[in-house]
Amino acid sequence: MKSLTILGATGSIGRNTIDLVAREPDRWRIEALTGGRNIDRLAQDARRLGARIAVTCEPALHGALRDALAGSGIETAAGPAALVEAASRPVDLTLSAIVGAAGLPPGLAALERGGTLALANKETLVCAGPLVMASAAASGARILPVDSEHSAIFQALAGEDTATVERVVITASGGAFRDWPLDRLAAATVEQASTHPNWAMGQRITIDSASMFNKALELIEAQQFFGLDPALIEVLIHPQSLIHALVGFHDGALMAHVGPPDMRHAIGYALNWPQRRALPVERLDLARIGQLSFTAPDPARYPALALAREVMAAGGLAGAVFNAAKEAALDGFIAGQIGFTAMSVVVERVMARMTPEIGPDRAAMTLDAVLDADRLARIRAREIIETMD
Ligand code: NDP
Ligand code: MG
Repeated sequence: MKSLTILGATGSIGRNTIDLVAREPDRWRIEALTGGRNIDRLAQDARRLGARIAVTCEPALHGALRDALAGSGIETAAGPAALVEAASRPVDLTLSAIVGAAGLPPGLAALERGGTLALANKETLVCAGPLVMASAAASGARILPVDSEHSAIFQALAGEDTATVERVVITASGGAFRDWPLDRLAAATVEQASTHPNWAMGQRITIDSASMFNKALELIEAQQFFGLDPALIEVLIHPQSLIHALVGFHDGALMAHVGPPDMRHAIGYALNWPQRRALPVERLDLARIGQLSFTAPDPARYPALALAREVMAAGGLAGAVFNAAKEAALDGFIAGQIGFTAMSVVVERVMARMTPEIGPDRAAMTLDAVLDADRLARIRAREIIETMD
């Protein structure tokens, strides 16, 4: 039996993870499940899986969680510090599927304690890649990617010498507005942006897919996780979302990872690693699919990609600033304060204003420095949003 903690258990990735784990109850012992506002689901899954502790990030909801778990013998806790405490408990595997930079402190706590971290929360690497990798190296913890593109790259690299890698291609669906006329984008609604052509995911990452901020985060995530030269990583639009990534080697071979758009593949690969076990995902009928197509992304439609290149070149705290500005801009879009295309304008302006704070000379990367940069970038983003029409 393996012990497992799921951070962000009530979200899209968390629920897909529980779907897999619940099929093999004799294989997994659940230590902690954490969630946010969805107390009913958190309590229900904690009971169903026999978790030792359930934690909500919302202190105001602790009473509701305690009531929902009354008589179960399951411990409860609430708030960000309780999340970190839960993540520090020794387990074989921690799966981090919190959304946003809020995933960083508990993810780091899991790494400092050792064991294996299956990482869906890409913001952990985007905000604090060098700190996260150093922390894993110091404790001997292992990080396994759960983001589908990074899982695909990881699988293509199995047994290979990374010095022979010539290029890495990350694919993107192009999101909800791939085929819209450019002049309509400014008026796109939250509802329209929340519909993904191929994947069923949480709302925030779905909107980030329409703007390609998700792919921008993934470029930085790939740079940090695999230690790649940014010049080797490219993005291609692949509307079918069946090839998740390709790795090119210096003998000319290009290894593609092909699979259905179902996160249970990447999650299951991380849960079972280093083995491959049978997974309940669709088997592709390639003859029926017929065609796989690729195009280069249009920089005018997806300005987030160029911003990610700036972040990769700047290093230091640029990732934390970029991500926080993006999260604040996304909040502003969801709240109806700014339009869809204004999100990248906000991020660009925050990065320009914070250049002195983020350069590599200010790169002394501690968790406090990252959290300060995050906080300041959110303040700057909100100031900029308030001045916009
Ligand atoms: P969801 O929004 O569906 O779920 C997020 C989870 O985090 C929920 O459990 C939520 O609780 C919890 N949560 C929200 N805010 C906080 C907070 N401040 N502190 C602690 N926990 C919080 O997100 P997804 O599952 O879609 O994505 C999770 C992560 O995985 C993201 O980083 C995303 O980029 C990444 N990812 C997701 C993919 C997908 O297919 N969905 C694919 C690849 C990567 P509650 O819902 O109870 O409020
Ligand atoms: Mg992805």
